[in-house]
Amino acid sequence: MTKVAIVGAAGRMGQALVRCAKLMPEIQLVAAVDQASCPLCGKDAGTLAGIGEIGLAITHDLPAAVKAADVLIDFSFHENVPVTIKLASEHKKAVVIGTTGLNPDERAAVELAAKSIAIVSAPNMSLGVNLLFALVEQAGKVLGLDYDVEITEAHHKFKKDAPSGTALRLGEKVAQGRKQNFRDVAIYGREGLGGERPRGQIGIHALRAADIIGDHTVLFATEGERVEISHRASSRDAFAKGALHASAWLAAGHKPGMYDMQDVLGLR
Ligand code: NAD
Repeated sequence: MTKVAIVGAAGRMGQALVRCAKLMPEIQLVAAVDQASCPLCGKDAGTLAGIGEIGLAITHDLPAAVKAADVLIDFSFHENVPVTIKLASEHKKAVVIGTTGLNPDERAAVELAAKSIAIVSAPNMSLGVNLLFALVEQAGKVLGLDYDVEITEAHHKFKKDAPSGTALRLGEKVAQGRKQNFRDVAIYGREGLGGERPRGQIGIHALRAADIIGDHTVLFATEGERVEISHRASSRDAFAKGALHASAWLAAGHKPGMYDMQDVLGLR
């Protein structure tokens, strides 16, 4: 039984985690944490998630949650991630980071913590998307630079970062398959007189609308044909189940270090 604490428990993903944890006998939810200013603190986490009372209130007591849990699952806000991992590394607890949009300093803090604790971090925790990463890398390798690559992603209007972490990872995987440095070839949207499309460029485009949970398409196009590889999430449960699966994987015991869902799912 893996004792899990959720950070960001009142949010959209936090609620999906509470719902899915209830259905997984190998997971015991021991704490549901949100920020002190969250008006939902004090409410029962199950009631908020729509599954009825589970006897666990949403609190802002992160230190108590870290002590109670074997694994922390953070789906909060990028600025909070260094706080979660600092406390987790002080108490030698493993962490699953689902939160995206980390800046270079925040990423560096995560990598430093990974010297002393095991961390699973993935911009997208769903099995389908992690399979997509492997497929687009292979497509990049096989199709090569003769195929123009454009990545489009669509998310709900409340998403704070753009493009999505998943779109960036898809771009990195295509670049890896084509032996390119992603940073050198990525272009984010286009406007004005940008000139002709250079060979090897990877375009990334973000759409924000209504309640879209998460769509990603990678287009490989050359004169005469197009290949499109798409993933559409229809429920946040796909991410929540992946994160809970990752927490059980961590609790089974892994050396300090950075892991991703490819490790958890044995796709590497
Ligand atoms: P959300 O805004 O609905 O929820 C975030 C929650 O975190 C809120 O309740 C907020 O009050 C809380 N929070 C903010 N600062 C906090 C702090 N300092 N301490 C504790 N709680 C804090 O957002 P969401 O849609 O649930 O997404 C959360 C994050 O997860 C985003 O970064 C999003 O991009 C990412 N996400 C990742 C995946 C994945 O598979 N990796 C999937 C979906 C969303």
